[in-house]
Amino acid sequence: MNVPFVDLKIQYSSIKEEIREAINRVFEDGIFVGGKYIQQFEKDFAALHGVKHCIGVGNGTNAIFIILKTLGIGAGDEVIIPAHNWISASEMTTLTGAQPVFIDSDPRTFTINVSKIEADITKRTKAILPVHLYGQPSHLHELQSICRKFNLYLIEDCAQSILAEENGKHVGTFGNAAAFSFYPSKNLGAYGDGGAILTSDDNLAKKIRAYANHGMVEKNVHAMEGVNSRLDSLQAAMLSVKLKYTQSWNEKRIQHANLYSSLLRDVASVNTPYVRESVKHVFHLYVIRTEKRDALQKYLSSKGIQTSIHYPLALPFLEPYQSDNHSQENFPIAYRDQQQILSLPLYPELTDEQIIFVCDSIKEFFH
Ligand SMILES: *Cc1c(COP(=O)(O)O)cnc(C)c1O
Repeated sequence: MNVPFVDLKIQYSSIKEEIREAINRVFEDGIFVGGKYIQQFEKDFAALHGVKHCIGVGNGTNAIFIILKTLGIGAGDEVIIPAHNWISASEMTTLTGAQPVFIDSDPRTFTINVSKIEADITKRTKAILPVHLYGQPSHLHELQSICRKFNLYLIEDCAQSILAEENGKHVGTFGNAAAFSFYPSKNLGAYGDGGAILTSDDNLAKKIRAYANHGMVEKNVHAMEGVNSRLDSLQAAMLSVKLKYTQSWNEKRIQHANLYSSLLRDVASVNTPYVRESVKHVFHLYVIRTEKRDALQKYLSSKGIQTSIHYPLALPFLEPYQSDNHSQENFPIAYRDQQQILSLPLYPELTDEQIIFVCDSIKEFFH
């Protein structure tokens, strides 16, 4: 049996007719940038979250940059970011001229350790940028109270966590603004690049919309310099089709994760994902921890099971941040996790037989 890490073709074939129709409509109308398809998607995406504004942008990384810039973050400022993370948040912080400040992970959840944040807040700190890694919300209520106490912006990176919840409330609705990515393999994936920003702040929404489109507030009126970062009509029309299924695809992911966790429960050498009681984890990734990670990965590969590592090095240990002299002792959990994490195949169309095969293979390896 072959178990690919992810397979985007199965999902496409299940909605092929609708996607083809959406593509045809866009081409027949000849509206490729701006216009009704993007407006419809933005309206639906905002409504689904109960947030006032959605602005489609070119990708999730741009979404983070645009939020930081329009909140006025730049040289001399610091932004608090989880150490165990994809690079977008830190590289975009640097691009604004501000300094990323890395915080170690929570020992159980892979997300930012909120108890470590206050000690690193300085007069320069402007924002906290939690990342709901793998699909599990960061400790959002605690983060909100830290932000209130120190007068900081809260910017959510929801690239891996669309429609995840804390206490019944969707991620992306807790802070000043939130960034989403529609990279093809994300829980809501486009057929190419795409991203969006959510905010309920009218003023900020206006700035974001202008900044993402050359600073234009109306045709040829540039209130500021900006960038060109737009979600195009074709992606928007296809995303509108997929948006209807996102919730049910998330439920499939959760079912698969539950099956994995129950089958792996008795494997002493494997730590299955810890899910906090107050959250809905949407399992963009199913990540286990084991001290025999590299050997296990090799064994699974020999059985036709593709796995991956998200991510092999925590941000403080990446080349661009070497000059800051970060040490393992400052990030003990992120350092442990980068050596032990393994992402198992997970996508809505995965079958129970495949999951059972993966778990049987893991058990064989440890016997
Ligand atoms: C995918 C991802 C991004 C960036 O999204 P792109 O659309 O690829 O730019 C940002 N943050 C996290 C945590 C991601 O997983």
